[in-house]
Amino acid sequence: MNTIPTPQEQLVRAVELATANVHNHGGPFGAVIVTADGRAFDGVNRVTDNNDPTAHAEVTAIRTACAALGTFDLTGATLYSSCEPCPMCLASALWARVERVYFAADRYDAASAGFDDAVFYEYFDTPVAERLMPVGQLQTQDIPAVAPFDAWNANTARIAY
Ligand SMILES: [Zn+2]
Repeated sequence: MNTIPTPQEQLVRAVELATANVHNHGGPFGAVIVTADGRAFDGVNRVTDNNDPTAHAEVTAIRTACAALGTFDLTGATLYSSCEPCPMCLASALWARVERVYFAADRYDAASAGFDDAVFYEYFDTPVAERLMPVGQLQTQDIPAVAPFDAWNANTARIAY
């Protein structure tokens, strides 16, 4: 008998975590990270409870997995999310070197519950001058803007990531 959970079973678990989280002071989002060797780490949304706008389920799962495993690199891992990851979570998964992402509900389902995932995706499709939050480069005075990179490149003890 095969006891390894299927991708569908992992995704069901993420949806169950999300649903239970609604009744535990959290947003309706859950996630599971499964490492390349099959270890699973849960995450749920803790934004309002922790006053942390970055505490999305996927980020929480990534943080939990990395802390437990003592690494910043989840190469080979799969992320299961109860809902399509927002741009922050997608980028977090990229930074964590997650190999693959599965989700259940999508960004439009999230929008129907009042969440801004779809709006934030639109940000990237909007002309720069019309974006919700202007982002611009400023010239620094007295210090070269690339000083941190010069220091990094000169540091032979650096840990690349
Ligand atoms: Zn997110």
